[in-house]
Amino acid sequence: MEYAAAKSSICRQCGRSFSPFAPKPGLKLRTKEEAPAPESPSFLGRFEDFWKRQRSAIIECFECKRKQQVSGAATSTICPACSTHIDLRDYKITSGFSRSIRTRGDVHLTSKGDLASSSIVCRSALIEGRLRGNLHCDDTATINFSGKIPGRISARHVIVERKAHIHCFRRIRAGSIEIKGTMSGEILAQTIVTVHKKGSLEGDVTARAITVEKGGMFSGQLVIGQVSITQGELLEDQEPAVISIPESHFPETARRPLPAT
Ligand SMILES: [Zn+2]
Ligand SMILES: [Zn+2]
Repeated sequence: MEYAAAKSSICRQCGRSFSPFAPKPGLKLRTKEEAPAPESPSFLGRFEDFWKRQRSAIIECFECKRKQQVSGAATSTICPACSTHIDLRDYKITSGFSRSIRTRGDVHLTSKGDLASSSIVCRSALIEGRLRGNLHCDDTATINFSGKIPGRISARHVIVERKAHIHCFRRIRAGSIEIKGTMSGEILAQTIVTVHKKGSLEGDVTARAITVEKGGMFSGQLVIGQVSITQGELLEDQEPAVISIPESHFPETARRPLPAT
């Protein structure tokens, strides 16, 4: 039995209470396995082919976007088309860190980490520590943190974990985003924003759709529209002028919690 008092603390930012969390050892980076190259040799036996698929990935050049297959054990490669060096390593950040990272591997910002780099580009990231820099994930950014996030996040998919309680100072740009915990901040999503049961989102949202599950909470201005953001734009500083709906279709305000759908 735990004391109820030990289960919550007060957020210095918004005054609301939240449950502080012990790091969840089971939480893993969620990454999507890349499909093998279609031209993979067919003379290999089925087993070998399967084994190879487990261990290799298709990665794209940072510069010319050419795809190539790399072994799961490789730590770097050279683009066969433009000779750009491609880092494939995973990074675990456990203290102050301010160098730039550009990798096709993953980044784990641990609870003691403090990431101030002006540019982090990676496949997936698990954010459990302070993020002050700019982070872009080609795949998924999982946020399992409580506090202010002054940094900039963009990703194909963003997950705000159940025990996370975050205040984002900069607009999050994502393909899609799932909120299981508490978040305040602005969101620009290409497809859907999902506020799960017990999730809470406060802030303005631009997306193609939003789903607020029963027991979830959303308050803020909602703009339903087509957002087209390319990965290049995701990293740029300025706001993209890409919302392709006329101004008159805009304020569909919802300053009250939306009904569950
Ligand atoms: Zn708060
Ligand atoms: Zn290249």
